[in-house]
Amino acid sequence: MITESELLALSHPGAPKMVTTSVPGPVARQSLARSLEFESMARGGGDFPLVFEQGFGVTVADPDGNLYIDVSAGVGVNSVGRCHPAVVEAIRAQSQRLMHASDISNSRRVELAGALSEIMPLGLRGNCISYFTQSGSDALEAAIKFAKRVTGRQQILAFHGAYHGVWNASNALTTGNQYRSGYGPFMGGVIHAPYPYAYRFPFDTTGKSAEQIAGEYVDYLLNTRYTGAEDVAAVVVEPVQGEGGYVAPAAEFLQLLRKACNESGALLVVDEVQAGAGRTGKMWSVEHSGVEPDMLTFGKGMGGDLPMAGVALRSDLARQIPPGSVPGTFAANALSAAVCLTNIGLLRDPKLALIDRARELGQETLEYLRSRDHRLIGESRGRGLMIGIELVEDRASKAPLAAQKMGHIVVESLKRGIIMVPCGRNGNVLRLMPSLTIPRVYMTRALEIILEVLDTV
Ligand code: PMP
Repeated sequence: MITESELLALSHPGAPKMVTTSVPGPVARQSLARSLEFESMARGGGDFPLVFEQGFGVTVADPDGNLYIDVSAGVGVNSVGRCHPAVVEAIRAQSQRLMHASDISNSRRVELAGALSEIMPLGLRGNCISYFTQSGSDALEAAIKFAKRVTGRQQILAFHGAYHGVWNASNALTTGNQYRSGYGPFMGGVIHAPYPYAYRFPFDTTGKSAEQIAGEYVDYLLNTRYTGAEDVAAVVVEPVQGEGGYVAPAAEFLQLLRKACNESGALLVVDEVQAGAGRTGKMWSVEHSGVEPDMLTFGKGMGGDLPMAGVALRSDLARQIPPGSVPGTFAANALSAAVCLTNIGLLRDPKLALIDRARELGQETLEYLRSRDHRLIGESRGRGLMIGIELVEDRASKAPLAAQKMGHIVVESLKRGIIMVPCGRNGNVLRLMPSLTIPRVYMTRALEIILEVLDTV
């Protein structure tokens, strides 16, 4: 396994280190003002009071010279850390040969499709065809089109709390009000069912687990007459829910979905955009369940420092898609493909064992958080380095921590040098999704600071 000193060498030393008295500092403040003037605030992080200037491993420097530890990895993107030397070298080498090739084959893209087939979960491994996009939203748009085309059906079943993207079809699956309000109508024919979010499940779980209830309900919807779900092409699911609050259901949930899909003929599409690329302690989070999906969407951590996303679908299904029917000008740019291949190489390297490390460090972190038993922590949960800390006003009522207190926690953490992006249906879940290359000392320091900040609320 990669050693701690090797990991430290991948990040700036001495983080966090704050040199300005306020955050943002004077230079960043000016830059943010210009951004407000010229850039759309429809984007996700527009109001985040930070400007990135340099990123190296798990550390980021702002233009005022403050140095932060980033436990968000660019929202789950930098699995191998920012500017990894192998990635930088791949960019250097490929940029001198070929970058753009349009949708025509290029050598790196061909190599990448082969590599993806080797690393897919069972069911797709050695038996899939990849379709490339630039973003996760696009990957979901493509998966939905393909599911409709090959089944000849029109409905899609997704889950409460889901985030699958913000375009027309993907947004129809995404449930967050802020992404929907005023933008509809979206693609029709979408049915939403409860996700097994045990901490806030709408039904009584004394006799049966949330996973059983949620899984059996999907079976009922798909395989019973008069439910209005007679034409479902695909069940689209995050094996670990991301934006919805870092919810990691037991394996039984996906197993029940697989069974229900088998009976109804719907395809099972697992969205691994956030939970994939080694983050949960397996290459793909679906692998914790042993379930074999029909399609898998990937993004974020597969690309890392350059955009790369797409969908892998079973070969027999892919053969039913008419050639040339879904073109993409920028798909699988040779540079992005070279970076993705490098990321895959690093994640699979047995000498580094980054994915095993994610599993171990994640488990240790969860145990540490649970042992600290802070009064604001309703629940600490997750899988691997995909950890959610759900904050509440008090544990008895489980009332979500007020938005203004959450804002204070995020900004106060930033002032102390920790970059953290919350999530959850009530915006009250702190998420730890650092690069798999986070040195232990940086993880420990980040946790200490976060707990100190919680004490200020
Ligand atoms: N699916 C999941 C599970 C995601 O977490 C996200 C992004 N948060 C997306 C899809 C959309 O990805 P992108 O932002 O690259 O469009």
